[in-house]
Amino acid sequence: MIKAFENYEIWFVTGAQLLYGGDAVVQVDGHSSAMVEGMNASGILPVKVVYKGTANSSNEVADIMSAAEADKKCVGVITWMHTFSPAKMWIHGMQKLRKPLLHFHTQYNEEIPWETMDMDFMNLNQSAHGDREFGHILARMRKNHKTVVGYWKDPKTLEHIAVWQRVAAAWADSQDMRIIRFGDQMNNVAVTDGDKVEAEMRFGYHVDYMPFSEVMTYFDKVEDKDVDDLVAVYFSEYDHAPELEDKASEGYRKVWNSAKAELTLRAVLKDKNAKAFTTNFDDLGDVNVNETGRGFDQIPGLASQRLMVEGYGFGAEGDWKSAALCRTVWFMSQGLPKGCSFLEDYTLHFDGEQSAILQAHMLEICPLIADARPKLEVHHLGIGVRKEQTARLVFTSKTGDGVAATVVDMGGRFRLIVNEVRCIESKPLPKLPVASALWIPKPNFEIGAGAWIMAGGTHHSCFSYDLTPEYWEDYAEIADIEMLLINDETTIPNFKRDLRINEIYYMLNKALK
Ligand code: MN
Repeated sequence: MIKAFENYEIWFVTGAQLLYGGDAVVQVDGHSSAMVEGMNASGILPVKVVYKGTANSSNEVADIMSAAEADKKCVGVITWMHTFSPAKMWIHGMQKLRKPLLHFHTQYNEEIPWETMDMDFMNLNQSAHGDREFGHILARMRKNHKTVVGYWKDPKTLEHIAVWQRVAAAWADSQDMRIIRFGDQMNNVAVTDGDKVEAEMRFGYHVDYMPFSEVMTYFDKVEDKDVDDLVAVYFSEYDHAPELEDKASEGYRKVWNSAKAELTLRAVLKDKNAKAFTTNFDDLGDVNVNETGRGFDQIPGLASQRLMVEGYGFGAEGDWKSAALCRTVWFMSQGLPKGCSFLEDYTLHFDGEQSAILQAHMLEICPLIADARPKLEVHHLGIGVRKEQTARLVFTSKTGDGVAATVVDMGGRFRLIVNEVRCIESKPLPKLPVASALWIPKPNFEIGAGAWIMAGGTHHSCFSYDLTPEYWEDYAEIADIEMLLINDETTIPNFKRDLRINEIYYMLNKALK
């Protein structure tokens, strides 16, 4: 069990009926308990599964689903039909359940006991048709859910449930997600904009704004000693030039001011119970900061890098949708090995089959994706309202496969775009000392970048080495949003057809629900 998910539960409800007598239900109950126990003991599932008994009538189903809705620990429900469970009895319950649903098509017995099987055995082990009856009502109700098919002891089967559990937990995390924008969106930018009311209804995001005058009330409360302590942490955690520790140097002063910015931002985020934030490099408060000493004398890039490690979602230039999605990616990825980050398409590298896109940002890349210990450096930054010496963590990313995702507002609906990518070795940039990754979008640069652009994808993305498209499939299903996947199977003609078909599908989908 991963500690991050220990406050959550997934409920397991078994469908049955009383037609076969109370003895059969007692057996169903025993089998279900053993299965849930076995699933929890597998070590594969990050969220504990809690068996909630058999549901044998419409009222029982409705009561369990109402309880699941009301229970704060419950982040999703798994249903399984051990015997035949007439599906009309699930209608009211399924109408009540708004939390993520997984329909598990499995069977207590692994193999048919050819020699001994009788009618009693058959009546008991009836998921083969009970799960089809249940599947029908979900299809008939257009009820979003995930279907997992396989034997309950098979690790491959449990892996699919584990993915869904992580997404369900992240979905619960998203339902009270407050995102604070320090500064507004960068003027005139289209793709980072969107409908905040619809986002709150759809994803649970609450998007707030905090003016710098209010940020300064937190800044003023930061104690110098705490800043000194944080600077000491920096020097112990990151490689750095020894002269940076010279307290009389400009470099030290910049690192110190960065630490103060970090403490300020963290204090705001904690106080506001926020899970994500955005910055805007054109809006950093008082422009006379170098005279007054009150405010951010450089963009808080190092602060953003470090806050991302802690799980605060980050979006640059006011991009609150990316900030929120980065938090969700981080939340889903907890305990997984390779890391995640906010990234931006920086510049192109044409090299035939190896054509790639350099991923970086001004500074704000999460060190979780670093291939080695990051280096703390201070360099001049020539963009934004503060053209100043600026502290940052410099590194290149790990290599290997990953997934980049973004959400855009299409007007009337949100669209999730997901691209499988392959990170190849990036190189240090002596004249542009920022953290970076270098990736080749799948199936190749030409089709991958082309499809992303055609779909209206951002230049910002939420990247993870550990997530797979299956996570995003589950996420889109739970959020009930459009998803476009760009991978090795993508062709431009098919992708264009999907874009056109989706326009109609989402128009009709609204009418059907
Ligand atoms: Mn940007």
